[in-house]
Amino acid sequence: MLSSFSLFKWRRLCSAAVLWILAVQITWGLDLQLPERSFQGDLVVGRVDPGSKIWVNGRPQLIGSQGHFVVAVPRDLKRDLLVKARNKNSTASHTIQTLKYEWRVQHIDGLAENHVNPGQTERMQIETDRMKIKAVRKTPPYVMPLFLKKGFIMPVKGRISGIFGSQRVLNGEPRAPHSGLDIAAPRGTPARSPADGIARLVAEDTFLMGNVLMIDHGLGVTSIFIHLDSVAVEEGDLVRQGEVVARVGQTGRTTGPHLHWGVSVGSTPVDPLRLVGQKMP
Ligand SMILES: [Zn+2]
Repeated sequence: MLSSFSLFKWRRLCSAAVLWILAVQITWGLDLQLPERSFQGDLVVGRVDPGSKIWVNGRPQLIGSQGHFVVAVPRDLKRDLLVKARNKNSTASHTIQTLKYEWRVQHIDGLAENHVNPGQTERMQIETDRMKIKAVRKTPPYVMPLFLKKGFIMPVKGRISGIFGSQRVLNGEPRAPHSGLDIAAPRGTPARSPADGIARLVAEDTFLMGNVLMIDHGLGVTSIFIHLDSVAVEEGDLVRQGEVVARVGQTGRTTGPHLHWGVSVGSTPVDPLRLVGQKMP
């Protein structure tokens, strides 16, 4: 039978054990690093303890060996993003508040009629071209976060002639929002890789995009260059930030020579301009 003294000692021992378990849980709790809020069209880089798994609004995300992962905030997202992390000992969750972005409207006139209202044969060609892009975004991307060390730079020096996300009105007809950044430059101007990566697709003579180059920067982040005059690298080449990978052209649906630079996370396009000079964690 326990004396009152030993009962007291026993209770102290129990409360110490509870405190110790709490302390251990706090120590083991996942360190999920993310911003409190982000704008529609943002690319967010988060970090969690290596070896964890990550879900964004229920969808699993790629994660690097150092615990980095990428969250895209879609252009038209109306709700907040719920990020959940789990490893074998612990879980964590974080809500990123979605802030509305003021999108503009851009009118483009003087486009060839079949580029705005393609016929059946042209629509089939467009679909074939689109499948090539889709296949690259779907195939297991490089998990190595090649873009993290140096971030992104502008691929071409020139006037910005079209921004990401603007509502497009082509020859007077409303069309899908612009999925990238347009930089006007003379034909033949060198286009440089905005970040380290691996050339994943070189496609010539596509109907709307002309000559195309796609670069995989890791963690599901890809760049696409379209309307190119020529491509200077081959599929599978490792490319460095600043390396000349193509020449600006006027191929596909365009009214003048320019580089269209798109950045996607998986199949979600984000604003390339906001990435330029963005500090990576
Ligand atoms: Zn464009």
